[in-house]
Amino acid sequence: MNPSSYQEMLALVQSFHDKHDLRRAGGEDLAYRVALMAEELGEISACVTKGKGKDQLAEECADLLILLIGTAIAADFDLDQAFQTKMGRLSTRKSKIVNGRIRVSEFSE
Ligand SMILES: [Mg+2]
Repeated sequence: MNPSSYQEMLALVQSFHDKHDLRRAGGEDLAYRVALMAEELGEISACVTKGKGKDQLAEECADLLILLIGTAIAADFDLDQAFQTKMGRLSTRKSKIVNGRIRVSEFSE
């Protein structure tokens, strides 16, 4: 199977938005989308805390990714470009162990 490109995923999510007329029907309202993303994050959390399998975790992560791509459509920004820009910035940051776990951030000290 060929790896999916962001443009292919974007086209599929755009088709889904068009099919259900999400823009006209309130499905692209940003506050509503934030609530949907929080709901999916909760489902991801439940997978981890309730010991559900990898397949279910993958499905819930896909749900969140679809919502993120749809939010880029709704708010009219280029998520691919934002990803590339942010990864470039993250790649220059240092890591540090904080409370026993690694953290990559812009540390002040
Ligand atoms: Mg879900």
